[in-house]
Amino acid sequence: MNRFDLLEKLQESLKDKLVICNIGLPSQELYQINDQPNYFYMLGSMGLSSSIGLGLALSQNKEVVSIDGDGSVLMNMNTLATIGNRAPNNYTLLIIDNGSYGSTGDQKTFTNEATSLKEVAIGSGCKKVIECNGEDTSKRLDQAIEDKNNSYVIISRINSGNVSVKPIPIHPISIRDRFRKYIGLVPYL
Ligand SMILES: [Mg+2]
Repeated sequence: MNRFDLLEKLQESLKDKLVICNIGLPSQELYQINDQPNYFYMLGSMGLSSSIGLGLALSQNKEVVSIDGDGSVLMNMNTLATIGNRAPNNYTLLIIDNGSYGSTGDQKTFTNEATSLKEVAIGSGCKKVIECNGEDTSKRLDQAIEDKNNSYVIISRINSGNVSVKPIPIHPISIRDRFRKYIGLVPYL
């Protein structure tokens, strides 16, 4: 299973959740699969999906799912410590670990070698850390969201590989404003 297949399978789980999606092909694939106003597509700030989602979960009560990648988490591992110590129970970090920097040509990341994001998350203080394969991910994500007493980090180990997708045609301000509207916030002037 590759990332596109996984994102397709997760659509029912992500319904009505506040979803922050990693920059590049993950966001473009998610847009192509099923564009929704509760999906916030990152157009910059590589590595910060986990941080943006964490702040969002801390500031309101709806369920938040940050979709991040192995390459992005590797470049912002310090946020795992903040998540381990401060994440509220309405926050789930889903790391799609395909062992590669997919958006730049599938160069291998260190999760192919000695680095375990599961062990890093546990060592960072995250108490509910699940590593699973792509087939089990939707079930594990549902369980994480249904558990109102814990925050979760899920590492979904899948194959590398991308599909051909186009850039997201929505203006960044429109992505921001429709997401704010979905949360119930007034648009910026
Ligand atoms: Mg990756």
